[in-house]
Amino acid sequence: MTIYPIQFCNFAPRINNINMAERKVRVRFAPSPTGPLHIGGVRTCLYNYLFAKKNGGDLLLRIEDTDSQRFVPGAEEYIIEAFKWLGITFDEGVGVGGPNGPYRQSERRDIYKIYVKQLIESGHAYYAFDTPEELEAKRNAIPNFQYDSHTRMQGVNSLTLSEDEVNRRIAAGEKYVVRIKVEPDEDIEVDDLVRGKVVINSNILDDKVLYKAADELPTYHLANIVDDHLMEITHVIRGEEWLPSAPLHVLLYRYLGWADTMPRFAHLPLLLKPEGNGKLSKRDGDKLGFPVFPLQWKDPKSGDISSGYRESGYLPEAVVNFLALLGWNPGNDQEMLSMDELIELFSIDRISKSGARFNYEKGKWFNHEYLIRKSDEEVAHMFEPILKEKGITCAFDKLKYIVSLVKERITFPADLWEQASFFFEAPTAYDEKSLKKRWKEESPQCLRELVEVLKGIDDYSKVNENEQLVLDWVASKGYNLGTVMNSFRITLVGAAKGPHIFNIIDILGKEETIARVNRALEVIK
Ligand code: GLU
Repeated sequence: MTIYPIQFCNFAPRINNINMAERKVRVRFAPSPTGPLHIGGVRTCLYNYLFAKKNGGDLLLRIEDTDSQRFVPGAEEYIIEAFKWLGITFDEGVGVGGPNGPYRQSERRDIYKIYVKQLIESGHAYYAFDTPEELEAKRNAIPNFQYDSHTRMQGVNSLTLSEDEVNRRIAAGEKYVVRIKVEPDEDIEVDDLVRGKVVINSNILDDKVLYKAADELPTYHLANIVDDHLMEITHVIRGEEWLPSAPLHVLLYRYLGWADTMPRFAHLPLLLKPEGNGKLSKRDGDKLGFPVFPLQWKDPKSGDISSGYRESGYLPEAVVNFLALLGWNPGNDQEMLSMDELIELFSIDRISKSGARFNYEKGKWFNHEYLIRKSDEEVAHMFEPILKEKGITCAFDKLKYIVSLVKERITFPADLWEQASFFFEAPTAYDEKSLKKRWKEESPQCLRELVEVLKGIDDYSKVNENEQLVLDWVASKGYNLGTVMNSFRITLVGAAKGPHIFNIIDILGKEETIARVNRALEVIK
């Protein structure tokens, strides 16, 4: 049995500092394809990407599919498509290729077997034959049972059976697992770049299963460490939920003889519910009406649809900006940050230790801000499919003009219809509230006279000139300007809303403008 000195871990970080300076930064995003990628996973990958690009390093995409029970078809394709949409690219990995492949763990069986054997031969792991029933009986009989240094000698394993018996069972095809042999009474130190030093005593760890003969595959823990080592990963940036696994990972690096090239860990803070208490869940999104997945997802079994940021009308740059600031800040109060600026400013020191409240209203704000910065032409292209669906055709120049008038008022492209529908469909009803507040006794008379003024105007595109003309007319008549304009607006739009009135009539044209006023005069009593 090899016993490693406890103080070993005290100088491991120093060795890593040296490595860090010398080695090219290499990070990885390593999702398990168990369903759609949660927005927290998207943030994790984004931080890895920003860190890699900032440091001139590589980002790998590795698919951790060793748990065949939890494999969901379509999940891998979904993940790849989501990052493509967001503009996050990988230097190596599934879908890209590279010199360290294959990048899907299920295709690396033979590689892992070498290290399983190495761990067994060096005495850091052992075969275990306990059946699920036997383990269940132990759990029922012993409170807080775990397979560890105190209980392993009561198990059916290669530490309690003779070598011949072990060989006989394996030769007979008995389904065994391989467990790590955690040495007791040792302080294991995890030096985390976000959390600082975390020390855990090995007594609380169990002898985790590293390999299952039934699947001929390692479990997450071993595959993850072997691959990070072979793929020369320098930094493991991942969600806080993996922090409890880190001490075991530190042990594995040591038992495999790789402690001097162990990656640095950075565990990211949790994404919290919008109210701030507890972890963000899909249910919060359903309840409050925001997506928790980057793309829409259709569950292959139930057919249930979960909404996605893309399909809800979010712009990828808005999602990236929003996520980047959930748990990190640039060190000043700049909020609008492009991907290039994020790369420039990113550093692990400014990742916060405490959880980040998922303020989805802020996400909407970002979307609005990015949308209004788009050109009228780009937003008009977003409007086109909405109109097409309604069977409406519109010259592109006119559409651009309309967009220029309503763009400031939208959060999502879908809001364009709500803000601009009256340009395409004359009002058939008039908003009660607007009428009550704005339609005055003298409104019909004023409007009847206004129609005559409108008939006298020939060029409706002279927006300022026409406005002046009408203002002068109102003044000459001594009418109340507000009453005239508000009533006029209601006849054109159907409610007291919308952009500048002389732009509206420019788009509607003379005939339609006059027709709308006349129709309203008939309908509104
Ligand atoms: N396969 C793990 C996951 O699904 C990877 C965790 C890690 O990054 O080490 O998140």
